[in-house]
Amino acid sequence: MTVPWVNWSGSQVVRPKHLRRPTTLAELQEILREAAGRGGRVKPVATGLSFSDILQGDDTLLEVTALLGEPDSGTLLALEPELWRAPSPAPLVRIAAGARIRQLNAALARAGLAFGNLGGYDGQTMIGAISTSTHGSGLTLGPLASAVRSLDLVTSDGSLMRVEPSRGLTDPAKFKRRYGSSMTLIQSDDWFFPVVVSMGCMGVIYSVTMAVSPAYRLYERRRIRAFSEVERELASLAPLKAFRNYEVVIAPYRRLDGDFDCLVTERNVASPELPRMPLPRGRQAAESLTFLASTQHAVIELMGNEPRMISAVLRAGLEALETGPEPHIDDSFLVYNVGFVNTAHVLSGEYFFPLRGGAFLRAVRGLLDVVEQNARAGIHQPSPLALRFVAGSRAPLSMARAEPHCTVEIAIFSGFPRAAEALLSYERLCLSLGGRPHWGQMHELTGRAGWLASAYPQLQKWLQAYRYFNARGTFDNHFTDRLGLSRLRGKAS
Ligand SMILES: Cc1cc2nc3c(=O)[nH]c(=O)nc-3n(C[C@H](O)[C@H](O)[C@H](O)COP(=O)(O)OP(=O)(O)OC[C@H]3O[C@@H](n4cnc5c(N)ncnc54)[C@H](O)[C@@H]3O)c2cc1C
Repeated sequence: MTVPWVNWSGSQVVRPKHLRRPTTLAELQEILREAAGRGGRVKPVATGLSFSDILQGDDTLLEVTALLGEPDSGTLLALEPELWRAPSPAPLVRIAAGARIRQLNAALARAGLAFGNLGGYDGQTMIGAISTSTHGSGLTLGPLASAVRSLDLVTSDGSLMRVEPSRGLTDPAKFKRRYGSSMTLIQSDDWFFPVVVSMGCMGVIYSVTMAVSPAYRLYERRRIRAFSEVERELASLAPLKAFRNYEVVIAPYRRLDGDFDCLVTERNVASPELPRMPLPRGRQAAESLTFLASTQHAVIELMGNEPRMISAVLRAGLEALETGPEPHIDDSFLVYNVGFVNTAHVLSGEYFFPLRGGAFLRAVRGLLDVVEQNARAGIHQPSPLALRFVAGSRAPLSMARAEPHCTVEIAIFSGFPRAAEALLSYERLCLSLGGRPHWGQMHELTGRAGWLASAYPQLQKWLQAYRYFNARGTFDNHFTDRLGLSRLRGKAS
């Protein structure tokens, strides 16, 4: 192949021997049979919004974005309630591999439904986001993967499996009557939870059935505060219990009084009688101007050439995001989306720390110290740190495994002077403090001998499923090579 496949941020340039874009399930099955038949390796990719080498493949790169079900079904596939053991207590939807969150939000809104939580962007496919344990913010709200109840997986011989937790949704007898030997039903926690967050290493997920909720509106307030005050409150976890979604964005350079500015976002469900109060048009226009490619370029150049200006630029940025005296009330999916900031050309790292024992607050202070030390060595941080909170996940390789975590995200404009050095210094610190990097974000040090097993005590559970679903090594890839997990290392053809 002459033209490489490049991800959204440009951080991964992939040069596979074959690039395939199936449009139907049958085509997907045929591609997998053909590649596996000749001992090739297959890497599924979606919209490529991940930054890391989980997107790298050497043989067959399989882009799933055109897998949208039958032409008339769109992004939502037909459910099969007639095969369930009992009616589901929550509304469920079945989502195709190629469906982007943005398209799904629109489809759900038309049906009077909404996702229970979302991250800050809607450009990803839902299944790509689930596969890396993508998350939003809220002490009681797990990563998106937590809402999955059932999934259809295509394995290397092209066969189709429906995988569910133990005592899952589907009645095995009814399933057998409909599908006979054409599809296998697996209902086991030991297989289901590993495969939900498997970064494309166990097969291609053709569809997921996930729980959603009736449509709702959110009330959002954003204001600038001193970080030392917010830090005291966070130590007791009180704000995380008071608000459904809570986020803190910290400007990492000291104010004159030695404290740090931070923007606190608080959200709760708005009562239905409150009218929508969208963001003022002027504010939206100002944001769109700020993130125009030409403006971004000028601001980045200014901060690169005159680092003493960074703190003023960041303060102005936080002020622009305050909600002011009027709250922001809108449909949930519009409020979750952080808007034009998503168009910034950045590279980003994100680390997960347990809330238990205040480890996350030590990590934040540690990162602020690293930013200060780096500045003395001429390495500058031109964007803020973002803290979000997420409930524990049952997936063995979810970064939010088992208990509530704080996520600390730190992004840097790609092309900003010494960006790679800065990101590496943050990763070094966060790993030394027990942080787990988001699989989809930049991470360079996770291949160190013993790191994976020490960071993920349930690794063996994940490996057991990986060996079962990936018995022929078809879904080994650069990432599993680097982590020393590949079944058939070096067998790429
Ligand atoms: C602007 C921006 C905003 C972001 N916001 C957030 C956020 O708010 N919260 C957060 O946690 N993360 C966030 N991320 C990270 C992003 O959500 C994840 O990296 C996500 O996995 C990307 O999804 P994708 O559809 O682009 O999948 P890709 O990046 O293409 O693939 C991700 C992984 O999923 C696997 N995969 C994809 N589709 C399938 C399939 N059908 N079957 C099997 N495996 C599959 C791939 O092999 C790969 O390992 C953001 C990233 C960007 C660039």
